[in-house]
Amino acid sequence: MPELPEVQTIKSDLEKAVCGAKIIRVLINNPKVIRQPSPAVFKKSLEGLSIKRMLRRGKLLILELSNGKFLTVHFKMTGQLVLRTTAVKNKLSDITGSSVKTDSRVTFYLSGDRVLDFNDQRLFAELRLLDDWQEMGFIQRLGPEPFDLTYSAFKDMLLKRKTGIKPLLMDQSFIAGIGNIYAAEILFHARIDPRRPAQSLKEKEQALLYKHMQAVLKSAIKHGGSSVDDYVRVSGKNGDYGRFHQVYGREGKPCFVCSRPVERIVQGGRGTYFCPKCQV
Ligand SMILES: [Zn+2]
Repeated sequence: MPELPEVQTIKSDLEKAVCGAKIIRVLINNPKVIRQPSPAVFKKSLEGLSIKRMLRRGKLLILELSNGKFLTVHFKMTGQLVLRTTAVKNKLSDITGSSVKTDSRVTFYLSGDRVLDFNDQRLFAELRLLDDWQEMGFIQRLGPEPFDLTYSAFKDMLLKRKTGIKPLLMDQSFIAGIGNIYAAEILFHARIDPRRPAQSLKEKEQALLYKHMQAVLKSAIKHGGSSVDDYVRVSGKNGDYGRFHQVYGREGKPCFVCSRPVERIVQGGRGTYFCPKCQV
């Protein structure tokens, strides 16, 4: 699932590519991804509007439209936004290869011969057209953005939490935008065992965790996110941060620091990768 760095990358790519573009036509190939309003109203309301601004909150992408309404995109497991031009449709799919799904669920035809395909193989994604995205229930329950959080606020948040530190980092009501990949990577960089109760962290560990949370997320954004599963950039190309992964997806392979095999355990129903020697 796209996490903060992936959604931030999609946001930046789209900002450059489609801000100011007019939505000429909306083709709905599978209405299941449109959660609000009805597909017919969704299509009719969007056609003729322009894309004014891109926002992100947690893992949610928000497109502000010229009439003041918002198109929200929750990518969930397999959602993708891929831009092509009508002129080079076939050529582009040849170049970008198999990672791009051609089964667009919703196709947005934009001014300037641009076409934005919303692909979603598993149909868990959610598109909404809203008057105010901030009124969404799950938005109101979201924790702070990692980059808006001060160290002292972060320390206070950890204090009374008995939960394992990894599931806590992934809890969107605790902090927004971190999922399975980056929770594992951040904890490796901070040398903290993912099973430790959050409140057991010493001051020095809290500081390391905060520092590496910022650093890992920033570096992942810089490299366009991690293309595990279905995530691709708006260009259809893969994100590049996967080659910097220290533990995620590396079960049985030697730790880059100590050479001991990286282990995978299941924690809260999710696979957790870590080095049992480096992370204590
Ligand atoms: Zn190690």
